[in-house]
Amino acid sequence: MPPPEVLVRRTSSEPIQRGHPWIWRSAVERTDATTAGEEVAIVSSDGQRVGRGVYDPTSPIAVRVWTRGNAPLDADLVRARVVRAAGLRERLFADGRTTAYRLVHGEGDRMPGVVIDRYADVGVVRADGAAADAVVRRFAGTIADALSDTGIRGLSLRTQARGDVPRVEPLTGTPPPDTIQVAEHGVPFLVDLAKGQKTGAFLDQRENRRRVGELASNKDVLNLFSYAGGFSLHAALGGARKVTSVDVAAGAHATAQASFRAAGVDPASHDFVTADAFAFLRRAHEKGTRWDLIVSDPPSFAPSEKSLARALSSYRALHRACADVLAPGGILCASSCSSHVDATAFAATLDDAALGRSDLSLLEMFGAPADHPTLAAWPEGRYLKFASLG
Ligand code: SAH
Repeated sequence: MPPPEVLVRRTSSEPIQRGHPWIWRSAVERTDATTAGEEVAIVSSDGQRVGRGVYDPTSPIAVRVWTRGNAPLDADLVRARVVRAAGLRERLFADGRTTAYRLVHGEGDRMPGVVIDRYADVGVVRADGAAADAVVRRFAGTIADALSDTGIRGLSLRTQARGDVPRVEPLTGTPPPDTIQVAEHGVPFLVDLAKGQKTGAFLDQRENRRRVGELASNKDVLNLFSYAGGFSLHAALGGARKVTSVDVAAGAHATAQASFRAAGVDPASHDFVTADAFAFLRRAHEKGTRWDLIVSDPPSFAPSEKSLARALSSYRALHRACADVLAPGGILCASSCSSHVDATAFAATLDDAALGRSDLSLLEMFGAPADHPTLAAWPEGRYLKFASLG
């Protein structure tokens, strides 16, 4: 039986031809589809078959596009895409010094909404929305099969309802342990698979953590929103005099300290502060404390387009507070993971007026590494910004 059709405006079919993987609900003229995860045929109002995708009746993204023309979304397609994605990573991580990375990066690997992170032999899947969740469940066996040569021994699905604790649901193979030790550029670290955020770690900052390690020699380092201490540990191993990690979550510090010990660094030589970063910065400014290298990597301030203006002023306030405690000649590394804040808008939260000083230049700006590919026609995918100023 042919899949139900989704009729879209002709103008909306153009971005799809260029490779944009989303169809907004407002672009849908008519559809018979009803169920989340249902395969649909996308037809433009001039009758052209644009592609096939997966329908979501509740999300603002009504359809995630999987194929062009009339190619079906079947097991052969999913297998081929997973094999291609895994092959790319095999080349990227051939030296074996990095054992945690993104194996499948959703849209960027032409697997819309489906993310698979690898932690040694454990594969952790996240599905963005009900439609992707249905796809993951339908093709779990195919995905596991496609990964059989990679050494992954089990796939589990991480789900987290808003405000709820995360759940780990084994899908195939060996169930995952609660914590696992992996490495980034040869630096060991612990990942809390059971209770950690996202799939357990923020793998998109790997290269930026390495860069911070390279900048840290003989410096007093402040790592704000430190989570499991990735930037902190790279800084400590890079020869920092002392690293101060600040996060509201005490549990994150416990994981960070375990990683320090695994890497042979005594956590007692460094400070782990459980506090609100803004309050911490205020107190430090009052006391006149200064740091030579500051890393700021907050959670997304702009979860939606509507919250953009407020988010930009929060970034400006945060960056001002960082600049207030940055020693003369110091380096500020500021990051944002909000996809609604593009690189230009983010740079504007670091300008002279925002920082209240005019002795800093924007040195470099990076995004996510190659295991987090995006699509040329999909700017929403380029969410990560990491700027260094000095
Ligand atoms: N830099 C980390 C990822 C940061 S995730 C890495 O490289 O892995 C964001 C972190 O900010 C979370 O650990 C969360 O607990 C913390 N957080 C959120 N709001 C905060 C606040 N107001 N003050 C301090 N930490 C906060």
